[in-house]
Amino acid sequence: MDKLSDKIFGSDFVNHFDGDQSGNLQPRQTPGVLYSKAMPTPVAKPTLLAWTDNLAERLACLKPIEQADISILAGNLVTESMQPYAACYAGHQFGNWAGQLGDGRAIALGELKGIDGNAYEIQLKGAGPTPYSRRADGRAVLRSSVREYLMSEAMYYLGIPTTRALSLVSTGDKVLRDMFYDGHPEYEPGAIVTRVAPSFLRFGNFEMLAARKEYDNLKRLMDWVIARYYPHISEEGKYIKWFNEILDRTATLMVEWMRVGFVHGVMNTDNMSILGLTIDYGPYSFLDDYDPDFTPNTTDLPGRRYAFGNQGSIAYWNLGALANAIAPVVNDIPQLKESMAGYEEIFMNKYTAMMAAKLGFDQVKSGDREFIIDFEQMLVQLKPDMTIFYQLLMELPSTIENHIDLINHFDESFYIEPSGDVLNIFYNIIKSYLLRLKENTCTKEESKNKMLKANPRFILRNYLLHQAIEDLTNGNSELFDKLQQAIKEPYSNKFDEFFKLRPDWASQKAGCSMLSCSS
Ligand code: AMP
Ligand code: MG
Repeated sequence: MDKLSDKIFGSDFVNHFDGDQSGNLQPRQTPGVLYSKAMPTPVAKPTLLAWTDNLAERLACLKPIEQADISILAGNLVTESMQPYAACYAGHQFGNWAGQLGDGRAIALGELKGIDGNAYEIQLKGAGPTPYSRRADGRAVLRSSVREYLMSEAMYYLGIPTTRALSLVSTGDKVLRDMFYDGHPEYEPGAIVTRVAPSFLRFGNFEMLAARKEYDNLKRLMDWVIARYYPHISEEGKYIKWFNEILDRTATLMVEWMRVGFVHGVMNTDNMSILGLTIDYGPYSFLDDYDPDFTPNTTDLPGRRYAFGNQGSIAYWNLGALANAIAPVVNDIPQLKESMAGYEEIFMNKYTAMMAAKLGFDQVKSGDREFIIDFEQMLVQLKPDMTIFYQLLMELPSTIENHIDLINHFDESFYIEPSGDVLNIFYNIIKSYLLRLKENTCTKEESKNKMLKANPRFILRNYLLHQAIEDLTNGNSELFDKLQQAIKEPYSNKFDEFFKLRPDWASQKAGCSMLSCSS
């Protein structure tokens, strides 16, 4: 284990590709390069608010005690082996081509070797302007940084592919934000999260090079990504094999999000990881009441493009954008089309298997797919709390005699108690469910174990985050500390103090129900 200030950082990406070495931080277009050298801008008074021991151990990194190490996490100290840079990428935002975007508030310091032998990119989010900051300030506020810090770690413990967070520091500087985009900006405390991932490359990095017709750079980037992150792919037809694997990983990620009720909120192509990781935690949310049309992002409201139930098809759309971008190098459009055509079945198979696990089925049998559709239709009408509902489903007795028994059993999960048609449908579905469980060839215990692994009991709800942030801003870290513990045990009942419905006050409150992208 070494101190951060003693660590030797690698710079494979920077050394391999052309970059703008000028160090000029003025906003501009940077054709011909994949990144720009960008030094972090120092902050007033860095204070360490959180440190992730479990990740630090994997990077053989000691917890910072001395100010020098904390300074690194705030961008105030750049050691000799670091070559800080901001990556140049583009993207489709809400379905529209947005041109060059790039790391506007993220600066990569370089790579650290993990104890597993792999290299991990270390990136500061909120470390000041880069050539890609456009009209913004390159900073992040405490509110959004706490959300990214906690949620990326929560996803890790849920077992979902994600970038991770090593630290959270407050900067001691104030940052001006118009949180509601209503012309009333206010000063908020600034913060920086240190993010860690094998790579932060997005679909948008490839789209940028394609849009600029820099096909040599595009091919070099594809070859480098395959050699480094997909080394098992053999030479023959490697680009198609690679695309198929990205497609598969992306489908898996969508299904995993839907398993736990996660809504990303900004699935623009610049927020789609080339490794199939959850990346860029902005106005995300878990579902409280079950609603496939729910989007947590105020900017997404008119179209609900990024709503919970749309995520599988938006991923398909985004993969199409990636396919278009890499097409000039793949040079086999029929094959790319065939790969895209296979998405729906790949997604549906994964989705059905995931739902079967949530429901405790031994396997996917004929009729199960139809049952799952009916079951979800029922949930749409019942609108129970998704997490609590599945927990209660695990405890369902083998017979339910009547409506009253049914209501009593699921009582804790209702925002609105069902009656009339909804109750009838609910009763009939649960009856069919119990019959289907009887067809299981595995034991009851095996079925329950499957459900225990598929259904989280603790989820990091927006209102909890909202409270923790409010407390932290007032100098009280009790809830923040507790949430850091709770996210580590999402499948246990250890933190049952949080096992309850979203409170009424939170259902309409900004920051608890809807969020803006402003961060
Ligand atoms: P996001 O919606 O967070 O994925 O961001 C979209 C684009 O806006 C990316 O290029 C970001 O780097 C950039 N961006 C967002 N917030 C800021 C900020 N405060 N300063 C500079 N760039 C930003
Ligand atoms: Mg982004």
